[in-house]
Parts: sequence; structure tokens; C-alpha cells
Amino acid sequence: MKLPNFEYFEPNDIQEAVAILQKQPSARILAGGTDLLVNMKHRVELPEVLVNIKRIAGLDGIESDDHGIRIGALTPLKRIYSTPWIGERLPALAQAASSVGAYHHQSMGSLGGNLCQQNRCKFFNQSRWWRSSRPTCYKAGGDICHVVNQKEICYSGYCGDVAPALLVLNATVTLAGAGGTRQIPLEDLFTGDGKAPLQLDRTEVLTEVAIPRESLDVPSSYIKFANRESIDFPIVGCAFLAAGTGKEYRIAFTAVDRKPVRGKKVEAFLKGKDLTEDHLKESSGLAAKAASPARTTVYAPSYKRKLMGALVHKAANKAMRRPD
Ligand SMILES: Cc1cc2nc3c(=O)[nH]c(=O)nc-3n(C[C@H](O)[C@H](O)[C@H](O)COP(=O)(O)OP(=O)(O)OC[C@H]3O[C@@H](n4cnc5c(N)ncnc54)[C@H](O)[C@@H]3O)c2cc1C
Ligand code: SF4
Repeated sequence: MKLPNFEYFEPNDIQEAVAILQKQPSARILAGGTDLLVNMKHRVELPEVLVNIKRIAGLDGIESDDHGIRIGALTPLKRIYSTPWIGERLPALAQAASSVGAYHHQSMGSLGGNLCQQNRCKFFNQSRWWRSSRPTCYKAGGDICHVVNQKEICYSGYCGDVAPALLVLNATVTLAGAGGTRQIPLEDLFTGDGKAPLQLDRTEVLTEVAIPRESLDVPSSYIKFANRESIDFPIVGCAFLAAGTGKEYRIAFTAVDRKPVRGKKVEAFLKGKDLTEDHLKESSGLAAKAASPARTTVYAPSYKRKLMGALVHKAANKAMRRPD
């Protein structure tokens, strides 16, 4: 499959990148390209201008200080999980980064690109030839949805592996754009709108992810349930973190809704309790209610809900280093 034609820029700094994005309304940021270029080959995303940010210095690196850890948006996923102290101090992050796609996606794919990847749907992420057998759907520019009988809502699902891990780590992201720089909780980056899943101004570049000190050196884990061990998006992914000594837990899921979601009801149920097998079994039913999966994959929403319950149990045991 060939790429469509596009104009190409390689800015040297953020200001130059932002200026190009401002001038070119259809411009898109290119990082590793493992998501965007595939979508362009499928003709589901057709930007006329690509702004490759890989030449910009200072966007690629992992630093720690008194406040916690800062990871540049261009840092490859492989670098994250191969940094030994990340595996020791932030196990959920290392486990999530190492579960993405295959080796090539991990070495080319960046942290920022992983967080900002497009939502997915079995009727959208297909070649133009495959899609030509049906009317064009709303997300691809038409006025029909093949999943839900509504014309103006897209239920495509967020399937990134790293976001749930960063959600339980209470990460924030820094965005640089024409209006200056702002820092927001990662949770606020996602809109829950399948057609425009990110709360980003079109001139904004995600430059950095910050993880607070309180999320370091506490038990955490990520479990991905997928069809194959490699080159597969999650059917469901679940991250778990046990915070401090107060029996407080954070739980997040991916691939179950239009954005990555926190399991707030399960967290409330488990708060103050020991992670006994009985409590974890009881929490499974609540986990299933944390999201509203749609028929955007070949897996039934009811199956995904059951998996959510099972994965909370497994992720908790993995975080506490207990046998399953
Ligand atoms: C076969 C296959 C399997 C895959 N499996 C998985 C999987 O299991 N789990 C998973 O999570 N992903 C998977 N992916 C998706 C993708 O490979 C990864 O998410 C990867 O981390 C994307 O990073 P990238 O740097 O290549 O992003 P790119 O493709 O360069 O960009 C992705 C999107 O993010 C935007 N973007 C990139 N960087 C920034 C930034 N700094 N600021 C603002 N916007 C930005 C781009 O404009 C684009 O819309 C898979 C892809 C393929 C093709
Ligand atoms: S949920 Fe509907 S509108 Fe969205 S990608 Fe799927 S078919 Fe298209």
C-alpha cells in the first residue's frame, strides 16, 4: 500500500513546529509514524502536511528529580522498559510499554505517539478497498455509524496500552502550543469522543509526561489480554497500583470505551481493605461496570466486561507479586 502525497517539514525546535501547525490547518505531527502512517496508507487519515518532530532536541529522554520522573514525548517505548530502574520503580509503566505491538513498534513508537494514537474500530481501521463495500462511516467523513444507529457519535475505542498505566501513576502531560505551555492531568487529555479523541488544540505538541514522586516505588502492574502475544492491540488492558500504606488502590482500563477509564467504583470498594481473594472476587462485578464497551471489535461487550473483572484480580496479584 502506498502513502498518499503530502508536504513534509522537519522543524528544529518547538516554536518552529507550532508555527507550521498554525499556518497549515490540515498539518499533523509525525513521531514514530507507526500509527499515523498506517492510517494514511488505509486512507482513513489524509493530512496534507506532516510535521516530523524527531529533529527537535530535548524531547527524548528520561530524567528524575525531587518531584518525580519526567519522560520526553519522543522517548521510544523500548528505551522506557529497557531502563532497569523504570522496571524496578515503576513496574506498571515498564510492563505496559513492553506489551505494545511488536519489537518494531516499541523501537520506533514514541511515548507521545502512543498516548495520542487514534481510536480504533473494526469498520474504520481497514483498507479503502475493504471499506468500499459499505457506506463511509461518520469517523471517516460519512454520515452513518455501523456500530450504533446514530449519525453523529463515533464509538471507536481507545486501545493504547500505556495510558492506563500512566493513569494509575497519576501522570500529567505538558502541552506546548501557540497559546503557550500548559500542564494537565493525563486523564484530561482524552475527550471520550471517538472522532476527535484528544483534548488538543491543533497547534499543540505533547512535549513531556511527568510522574509524581508519590507514585514511585509502590506496587503496580499492567496486564494485557490480547489474542496473540505480539503485534496485537489489547482486547482489554488493566493497570493496578497500591498507593502508600493507606490501603488505597488505583485501577484503570483500556480498550473498553472511547477513552481510557479509571475504575472508580472498584477503587472505592477496595479502599481500606486488604487485597484478599474474597475482596478481589467481590470487586470483579464492580469492575465490569467501569466502562461501556461498544461493538467496535470482534469481541462482544459482555466478554470485555467479564475480562475487566478477571483482569483486576490478576493485576492486583501481579502488583503484589503473588501467584495467581
Ligand atoms: C500492527 C500494529 C500493532 C500495534 N499494536 C499496538 C499495541 O499493542 N498497543 C498500542 O498501544 N499501540 C499499538 N500500535 C499503535 C502504535 O504502534 C503505537 O501506539 C505507537 O506507540 C505510536 O507511536 P508513534 O510514535 O509511532 O506515533 P505516530 O504514528 O507518529 O503518531 C500517532 C498519533 O499521535 C500524534 N502524535 C505523535 N506524537 C505527538 C506529540 N508529541 N504531540 C501530539 N501529538 C502527537 C500523531 O499526530 C498521530 O495522530 C500498533 C500499531 C500497529 C500498526
Ligand atoms: S464507531 Fe461508527 S463512526 Fe466510529 S469508526 Fe466505528 S463505524 Fe465509524
